[in-house]
Amino acid sequence: MTVGVLFDIDGVLVTSWQAIPGAAAALDAVRRRAHPLAFLTNTTSRTRSEIAASLCAAGMDVTPDEIVTAAGLTAEYLRSTYPDARCLLVNHGDVTEDLPGVRLDDVNPDVVVLGGAGPEFDHDTLSRVVGLMQQGVPVVAMQGGLSWATEDGVKIDTGAYLPGLEAAGGGRVTVIGKPAPTGFIMAAALVGIDPEHAVMIGDDVANDVLAAQYVGFTGVLVRTGKFRQAAVESASGTPDHVVDSVADLPALLDALGGEPGAAD
Ligand SMILES: [Mg+2]
Repeated sequence: MTVGVLFDIDGVLVTSWQAIPGAAAALDAVRRRAHPLAFLTNTTSRTRSEIAASLCAAGMDVTPDEIVTAAGLTAEYLRSTYPDARCLLVNHGDVTEDLPGVRLDDVNPDVVVLGGAGPEFDHDTLSRVVGLMQQGVPVVAMQGGLSWATEDGVKIDTGAYLPGLEAAGGGRVTVIGKPAPTGFIMAAALVGIDPEHAVMIGDDVANDVLAAQYVGFTGVLVRTGKFRQAAVESASGTPDHVVDSVADLPALLDALGGEPGAAD
């Protein structure tokens, strides 16, 4: 069975949308080896079309339909779990294009949907979310990332708010994207691979790598993006593989014996 690859984007292929050295060649090599692939990202500030355009501008040929976003996965979850519910969306950036069939209503919501953190996660808004939770309104988070790296330094993300919201609101938040199992399993299904034949490559040891290994993927950690050795040492598990960058992925796939459909 051919090994399929799920790529984290930020910190693996690009940093602040600039290509990481060797990323374009590595992606080409993986495509030439005919591994099924997709891009699994927690980015909630850009649509799939915008992400594909940004990757193309960075020299990587990627189409929107190859990109699995936390927003898209959340839309699928909302459509199946809360059909026709009125959703209060708290998100940084406009991703409504990736939320087809989701009814946005910030006046009288049935469900709260938390996207990526930003200035929108202010005191009044989060207080309102806690009030809704106390009334029993379910809360769905597109992803549970704790932080991401930018040129201006670290920014805290949605996952950093969730324990406080759960404690104050007296309820549980359902997380869809990384590190929750749901996103990995849905993404693997989308590219038609079983988790045991899937490789996840990411720069976040907990959110990308160990979370993927938890659902049966092979995890590959890169030493680019937000990689920190201290995070690896304090992590709750050990990555299956650690490589300097995505440039090392094609050789690793060969070593894993992925039985590629076409050699280069
Ligand atoms: Mg990343």
